[in-house]
Amino acid sequence: MRAFLLAVSLGAALLTLAGVAEARARGGDGRFDARRSTHFLLRQDVAIDQRTGPSGTRQFERDVLRVLEAGYDQLDARLGLRPRRRLEVSIYDPARFDAHYARLAPFRIAGFYGGSIRVRGDVRVTPALVRTLHHELVHAAFDAVAPGLVLPGWLNEGLAEWFSARTAGLVPIGGQDFAALAQIGARGQLLPIARLSAPSFASLDAGTAPLAYLQSRALVDHLARQHGDQALRDLVRRLLRTGDVDGSLARAVGVDSAGLEAAFRDELGLAR
Ligand SMILES: [Zn+2]
Repeated sequence: MRAFLLAVSLGAALLTLAGVAEARARGGDGRFDARRSTHFLLRQDVAIDQRTGPSGTRQFERDVLRVLEAGYDQLDARLGLRPRRRLEVSIYDPARFDAHYARLAPFRIAGFYGGSIRVRGDVRVTPALVRTLHHELVHAAFDAVAPGLVLPGWLNEGLAEWFSARTAGLVPIGGQDFAALAQIGARGQLLPIARLSAPSFASLDAGTAPLAYLQSRALVDHLARQHGDQALRDLVRRLLRTGDVDGSLARAVGVDSAGLEAAFRDELGLAR
């Protein structure tokens, strides 16, 4: 059985949970209206109209599609991902969404990926939701292009985090992030890349997960800064062709994941 990744936003922190197949099946109980954009099929819970009125809902729906299409335009340039089939997006009635998914995390979930991009209906698209949509778009694109490909968590979440930051015009790892990572590293508390290489961060507790996402974003950002953005496209291209993470890393950037970890520690000024 395939484990679905579930990423949710809590401010800047993202926590991934797995095993939503059951919730996914139940979440499909509602009735949905469908509409299409160039690259997306949007399904909307009909219950939303009864709560917020169709005009407000339609605007939210249009805004979600606009944000996703803008993200799609960046996918190829930044990561070399070109999904051919339409990607599915489901917008849920907020109460129904919370009823199905709120128990999966100790805080409000705005959206996640679990076979389709799932969004909690709202009256407006916030910057945080834009980040979430673009993060989930990367998971959806990998799933569409290479359904059987299982990436290590740091690469899967790191690429999604890096992409959503860059697409928002942000620096993926700012000075404060860098300083925090150096401090955590000086205390010997960075997570080893072996631990970050599990396919999912689902088993991490709420205190550890934000660090796992930060380190993942930092490792991918390190690759982009040291080797150029095109190195990420090259890495993804090789991954899609071979599925071999260390081999693709070695050919795209000259180091395997252990070498990447060592180079990143060097950059932070830490002993290997
Ligand atoms: Zn994710």
